[in-house]
Amino acid sequence: MENKLNWVQEQLDELKQAGLYNTIRTIGSAQGAWLTVDGKRVLDFCSNNYLGLANHPRLVQAAKDAVDRYGVGPAAVRTIAGTMDLHVELERRMAQFKGVEDAISLQSGFSANLTVIPATVGKEDVIFSDELNHASIIDGCRLSGAKIIRFKHADAGDLEAQVKAHMKDYRRGLVISDGVFSMDGDIAPLDKLYEVTQRHDLMLMVDDAHGEGVLGRGGRGIVDHFGLHGKVDIEIGTFSKAFGVMGGVAAGNAGLIEWFRQRGRPFLFSSAATPADVAACLAAVDLLEESTELVERLWSNADFFKKEMKALGFDTGHSVTPITPVMLGDAKLARAFSRELFEEGVFAMALGFPTVPVGKARIRVMISAEHSMDDLEQGLAAFASVGKRLGVV
Ligand SMILES: *Cc1c(COP(=O)(O)O)cnc(C)c1O
Repeated sequence: MENKLNWVQEQLDELKQAGLYNTIRTIGSAQGAWLTVDGKRVLDFCSNNYLGLANHPRLVQAAKDAVDRYGVGPAAVRTIAGTMDLHVELERRMAQFKGVEDAISLQSGFSANLTVIPATVGKEDVIFSDELNHASIIDGCRLSGAKIIRFKHADAGDLEAQVKAHMKDYRRGLVISDGVFSMDGDIAPLDKLYEVTQRHDLMLMVDDAHGEGVLGRGGRGIVDHFGLHGKVDIEIGTFSKAFGVMGGVAAGNAGLIEWFRQRGRPFLFSSAATPADVAACLAAVDLLEESTELVERLWSNADFFKKEMKALGFDTGHSVTPITPVMLGDAKLARAFSRELFEEGVFAMALGFPTVPVGKARIRVMISAEHSMDDLEQGLAAFASVGKRLGVV
């Protein structure tokens, strides 16, 4: 019998055939170097818990105290009755941490892109977007109704050529790039992109989701890394990666930030972040401002791991950050590799299309400050043994 939902099973079967079906594993413990995954104790090599803050005692305590004082829910959107002093304090602290005029706290990094992009440009405008930008940037661009022109990945020359060819047809222009590209671990040439925006009077926005807490002095992000303070109009950030919690932020020019408070749709129409989350984020800012120790340990762990993986013969791409892609190419091979690693007690998920291009499947290892030298050695041994067994190295 024909049925209006037959397509669903067909599509799911197609994904399975192509090796692109996501089998979602379930975590039964707090985040950390070791996790209980599907009931098994394994070394965690794939979460975004860069600094180990997701279960840090200071953040946990701050969240508990906030629940005692403010309860669990915000009960409203920010513009009606949902703005607590905690939200305002987080905005003040983030502006200070990033060295910008103002910041707006949002519910997630994804929602930050949906807030900012459609509020900044519309139908008469043009967006120049790096071809490898994150899905939430792509969706924000589409929602804005602006013309979207993609420039070659991390290529300021191509950006300028596109600007010269197209800008004359539009009112305002906005250049958007990821700061750190999460699948490859390379970084945007922000200094060169900035020069192009200067020459052509364009707005510049960077999504620093994987740069905050990682790049720059004490994890202040990509703008700090390049010393471009005051020159990037909008920095998007997330509290769900190095900060270990949940939430988003847009930071930068005070006028723009105020405009987002007036016209950012997820800000106006989706409830505020919870008190526990916001209080934990504040504790994370405290920790980062107090000491650079965690950021330094993250980098030394990542440098060690990458060097040893190369010595074993793995192709780790061209990452310049702690993100370590292990390039395998074929999606089925990547999934088999991930399954065998799991058998060896290492949790590292395979990534395939549409997260990465077809034929560029990989295992993306996320090194953390939480990993001990023993953890890293154990992970390397598992990679070596699976890599030999599957004929990769
Ligand atoms: C992870 C990520 C996001 C989404 O952040 P969430 O807070 O998890 O919603 C947005 N942009 C980029 C570049 C990211 O890597």
